[in-house]
Amino acid sequence: QHLPLFAEARGDIQVSFEFFPPKTEKMAETLWDSVQTLAPLQPRFVSVTYGAGGSTRERTHQTVERILKETSLTPAAHLTCVGASKGEVDDVAREYWDLGVRNIVALRGDPPEPGSKYQPHPHGYRDAAELVEGLKKVAPFDISVAAYPECHPDSSSRRFDLENLKRKVDAGADRAISQFFFSADCFLRFRDEAAAAGIDAEIVPGILPVSNVATTRRFAQTCGAAIPQWLDDLFEGLDDLPAARQLIAATVAAELCGQLYAGGIRHFHFYTLNRAELSYAICHLLGVRAKQS
Ligand code: FAD
Repeated sequence: QHLPLFAEARGDIQVSFEFFPPKTEKMAETLWDSVQTLAPLQPRFVSVTYGAGGSTRERTHQTVERILKETSLTPAAHLTCVGASKGEVDDVAREYWDLGVRNIVALRGDPPEPGSKYQPHPHGYRDAAELVEGLKKVAPFDISVAAYPECHPDSSSRRFDLENLKRKVDAGADRAISQFFFSADCFLRFRDEAAAAGIDAEIVPGILPVSNVATTRRFAQTCGAAIPQWLDDLFEGLDDLPAARQLIAATVAAELCGQLYAGGIRHFHFYTLNRAELSYAICHLLGVRAKQS
């Protein structure tokens, strides 16, 4: 019943899109085509990730600057605490503010060696909550933080993870964006638990349209997201049929969004992987249509 519902509900859904900074000219072209394809859907913001250990600092900055100067979109720059002192992080934030960037996605980041224990920089922000507090002192940014419906792997318990999210919101975060997940029930339960724990900021589901389960499994290993067996089964036998995989990816993601919509969700954040088609198709299924800017 979800699709007719979306047709009626047209207009009450908002979306945002996440991109990563391109490494090559060719990747830059793909990214830019995607930004332009998705722009008419008038997302609330489009965010640009920050590579592990700050490795993409320049490229993140360039991408954010280009979006700001050449489109009417609202860019959100991801920023992490890894490998930088508080002063260095504050300088990056101040540069963004002076450029006209008002939205930041504030993250702790991961250790440079996958699997090793996170060690804060000796003069750096210890975690995302401290970073949020520091950023709010630099300027009145709109700040998003990360949330984990299936619990962050570093968390000793679900309760500790929720307390950590509360610390980020109490420090001034305006909303949380979730890690990807494949069970609407799991997300909605997490949202309700967060509300019960006194977290009053909006929690936006992060939607990863999956057209390649093997790649998704690699992402999922480090971030505490479960890949259900049914997802594996759905893609079985389709290794050589990329177009069929795309169609299935759109169907699965739209179904997930439908269940979330029924649970009251009205903002969806898409991990685009710099490709527009899937996210565009899913938005279309949700009744999100191109608007004249
Ligand atoms: P935090 O909220 O600081 O903490 C994560 C966990 O660590 C907590 O749940 C808690 O269990 C534990 N913890 C925190 N503080 C303490 C403490 N003081 N003592 C003990 N335990 C503590 N990574 C990138 O490198 N670049 C990106 O651009 C990027 N974008 C992301 C966007 C989204 C929407 C999401 C969900 C994740 C993103 N990540 C990115 C990944 C993120 O950096 C990792 O998941 C990282 O491991 C945790 O970051 P956080 O901001 O959630 O950390």
